[in-house]
Amino acid sequence: MRRPLIAALLLASVAAPASAATRVEHAAVVRDAALAKSEAYPILEDLTTTVGQRMAGTPAEARARDWAVKAMQNAGLANIKTEPFPLKVWIRGAESAEIVGSHPQKLAVAALGYSGATPAEGITAPVVYFADYKALEDAAPGSLAGKIAFIDHRMMRTQDGSSYGTNGPVRRSGPALAQSKGAAAVLIRSLGTDSHRNPHTGGTVATPGTDPIPSLALSLPDAEQLARLVQRGPVTLKLVSTPRTEMGTSANVSGEIPGSAANEIVVIGGHLDSWDLGNGVIDDGAGVAITLAAAKAIKDAGVKPRRTIRVVFWGAEELGLLGAAAYAEAHKAENIVMAAESDSGADRIYRVSSKVSEAGLPLIAEITRTLAPLGIAPTRDNNAGGGPDVGALGRQGAGILELEQDMSRYFDLHHTPDDTLDKIDRAQLDQNTAAWAAATWLAASDDRPLRTK
Ligand SMILES: [Zn+2]
Repeated sequence: MRRPLIAALLLASVAAPASAATRVEHAAVVRDAALAKSEAYPILEDLTTTVGQRMAGTPAEARARDWAVKAMQNAGLANIKTEPFPLKVWIRGAESAEIVGSHPQKLAVAALGYSGATPAEGITAPVVYFADYKALEDAAPGSLAGKIAFIDHRMMRTQDGSSYGTNGPVRRSGPALAQSKGAAAVLIRSLGTDSHRNPHTGGTVATPGTDPIPSLALSLPDAEQLARLVQRGPVTLKLVSTPRTEMGTSANVSGEIPGSAANEIVVIGGHLDSWDLGNGVIDDGAGVAITLAAAKAIKDAGVKPRRTIRVVFWGAEELGLLGAAAYAEAHKAENIVMAAESDSGADRIYRVSSKVSEAGLPLIAEITRTLAPLGIAPTRDNNAGGGPDVGALGRQGAGILELEQDMSRYFDLHHTPDDTLDKIDRAQLDQNTAAWAAATWLAASDDRPLRTK
């Protein structure tokens, strides 16, 4: 029976500003309450059931913002704001890939974000195989004229997701690189670790001043099928992909638990937009739900932070961190002392990392100690990135906290039709939320400087 103890601690907390000892005691109370039952799952269930996918700049993302304002109100946040910015919206069209000739068969594909279109009737062209990104780099200029470049690679399952980083160029810049050598279109082996016939979509970066070529991801089994066929002899493919772009609007949504030193701000959050194939549950409905539930856990504990806790839901992350750039520019004059994003799924936190001033390291040690009972390890260094949408804030000098999530199964689901609610493990989600609640409270109730410049 822990209830009387929690109640006693909570009552004590309301009366006086937290001393060093009670700050840590409150962190444990907030942590244990969230671990027992956090609000993350109902928040995540509601967003991903009532809105579903939330492609950047579309009416679905706008409905997600309406949902976010209400969810922040329900969590008791103040100063709720929506800050719009313009963007080029990318809208998926028809898409298919079919081997023609002596081994005719269909392949499972999905077009990549900001990729270009084929004519409605498609294109038919020979395939040139590249074992990895480096092999494509080595291809002679002009050697891909009129051909479809197929870029293979081997992405590994890792706890820290690092294999996504090392193979990322295949998707992000592979299409532009192949285009620079004359390619008519690009197929990539999906950046993923599953064995389903689900292609993984994702963003690409075009060379400025060019019209991007059609680029699609093959599911992993289909990439292996195509690799086997290429080994047997020349392969010709018919590709159809008819996406289009138009100008539109996205926005960042934020709400606060105001602190007594209100001009010192701790930013936590996730991104509100998602890809269009699944329901955007692990990417990044989970980050939205975890950070809002963490703030709500602090509110519900009745404790008042010294620093303002600001929950930010960024828009248009998937199309190239567009909300993050707009946010950092609009808020560069503010004293954001720390920023942290949850954008690696909904599984457990296993390690803390940071990038804070020397003077802030004792706070990170305090966070680490408080999270240790959740099975969370300390950092290896003080050089963390903190999640995609807080990178720009970190470069402006905000201290960075990263609660590293176990990404072992993240890339089975990431950017696929399988990113759905049934994949959520509620015990892991609550452990994750407990870590966020306790760490956010410790940072927001503290006064040690964290900024790196
Ligand atoms: Zn994400």
